Amino acid sequence: MQFTKLLTILLFTSLVLVGCSDDDENAFIADGQSPNTQPLGASANDLLSDTNYRGLTVEIVSVQGFAPTTAAVNSFKSFLEKRLFKPDGITINQRTVSSSGLAPFNVEKIKQIETTARTAFNEGDEITVYIYFADGSNNEDTTTRVTLGTAYLNTSMVIYEETLRAISSNPNAPMLSTIEAAALNHEFAHLLGLVNIGTSLQSQHENTASRGHCNVQSCLMESAIEFEMGMMDMLGNGVPELDALCIADLQANGGR
Ligand SMILES: [Zn+2]
Ligand SMILES: [Zn+2]
Repeated sequence: MQFTKLLTILLFTSLVLVGCSDDDENAFIADGQSPNTQPLGASANDLLSDTNYRGLTVEIVSVQGFAPTTAAVNSFKSFLEKRLFKPDGITINQRTVSSSGLAPFNVEKIKQIETTARTAFNEGDEITVYIYFADGSNNEDTTTRVTLGTAYLNTSMVIYEETLRAISSNPNAPMLSTIEAAALNHEFAHLLGLVNIGTSLQSQHENTASRGHCNVQSCLMESAIEFEMGMMDMLGNGVPELDALCIADLQANGGR
């Protein structure tokens, strides 16, 4: 019903919210987990390079019945292996949890869930990322634009899996695995500091009208992926790739 306008899709990253959330992060710091509660983009170099961390563990925590497809996780892992220097390897651990009952979500609720759902934190030369697959939508969704996911801290992101499934169930929609992989790769690229949020620009390709996004057409980080036909066009050819300018930025910050 509300998804009849399914061409209008938003891959929205709540960067402004993150910038204003310092108070809430103190709760994490009190638990001694401060390396994993920094602002978005703060761990870009640590994720890209092997300077401080030689391995990466990604913890995917899904609400029962809302886990990502195997195809999407495999595609996501290939994306990481292509861009990150992690000689000790990249491990993806998956498990399910029961519903929080808190849907629809804002970032504060998502952060609250992380305090109990997350079990993996940086240790030694292993850096960790937490990804929550939620059984609900973002509370700011409207009939004409929806949020697929949000990267909200340096090693934390959420995918609104219920929303992705609703979109993919429409006629002519991309396959669920394609939408999932696009959302995973796009949000993780924000953790990698794209665009100009922790990884410096090597050339001017920042979309000045949409913070954290690229102005190259069909790039994974293009802001058009967030709106209307743009994403549908892009996903029609499979999961969008990073363009050469975004890759150059990652390479200059220690990535492959
Ligand atoms: Zn984005
Ligand atoms: Zn780009």
